[in-house]
Amino acid sequence: MTILDGKALSNKVKEEIKLETQELKKEGIVPGLAVILVGNDPASQTYVASKEKSCIAAGIFSEKITMNEDATEERLLDRIKKLNEDDSIHGILVQLPLPKHINTNKVLETIDPKKDVDGFHVFNVGQLVTGKQSLVPCTPLGVMRILEEYGINPIGMDACVVGVSNIVGKPMMNLLLNARATVTVCHSKTKDLKAHTSKADLLVVGVGIPHMIKPDMVKEGAIVIDVGINRMTWGKYEGKLVGDVDFETVADKCSYITPVPGGVGPMTIAMLLKNTLTAAKMSMK
Ligand code: NAP
Repeated sequence: MTILDGKALSNKVKEEIKLETQELKKEGIVPGLAVILVGNDPASQTYVASKEKSCIAAGIFSEKITMNEDATEERLLDRIKKLNEDDSIHGILVQLPLPKHINTNKVLETIDPKKDVDGFHVFNVGQLVTGKQSLVPCTPLGVMRILEEYGINPIGMDACVVGVSNIVGKPMMNLLLNARATVTVCHSKTKDLKAHTSKADLLVVGVGIPHMIKPDMVKEGAIVIDVGINRMTWGKYEGKLVGDVDFETVADKCSYITPVPGGVGPMTIAMLLKNTLTAAKMSMK
């Protein structure tokens, strides 16, 4: 069994980005990312701070825009439109979730698709579904990068994706389909989850239920990618982060498995930097 080390890989990717950013600077382009945070959600504040720190370390210009919890939708949309026109900004990210009085879809669709480094705009979703080049959501893109790094080609594999959110499961399903895996997708209404997961050569789980995947749900020798991040408030793991896969009991059955923490999580920010660099390069064409 091999542990897929997302932490080490994310550091490697960040170093690659730093070098590429230096090259771009020689051509007069400094990649720039604007992150908009509305409200005071502590988890969102932590994510935004971490994104800003990673940008600075990679030599990417970072602009943090904060708005009060009661900021109007109109004000937020106006700010995005200004960033769309700003040549020093190549990527725009609106930290989710937004306060309830703001229409998230309207906000995401106001971002110029060429600056949509989260890959959530319907244009980019369409590009991904039709197999064209696009800005792809960072977490599933990070999963593909992990597979590539370890020489795992999903072509022809029976892949099972559990969870179908727009952020994780749906783009994951499309990336694996584009890579020509045979993909089964499962969700909260799936009749017999185990019947699907236990047949998979490649199992990707992004649900948000701690330790839901047990050994009897996993095929011997499978590759298991755990996207879940759950902070435990009780029991043996109190205060710790755990995944959706019961790592301790499942790992021995796998050929490869991602740990939590240190698996998919660190790759998400690395891919955000990568998408910002891609957007900066696209702006040169
Ligand atoms: P989400 O929007 O709540 O989606 C959860 C998905 O799981 C839904 O599609 C839901 O199905 C499905 N589901 C719920 N219960 C299920 C069950 N019993 N069996 C099968 N499927 C079930 O969550 P998300 O944003 O995708 O996040 C999922 C997990 O990934 C969370 O732990 C989150 O913290 C983590 N995450 C990690 C990263 C990272 O950087 N590593 C990034 C994003 C998210 P329905 O659609 O039918 O409701």
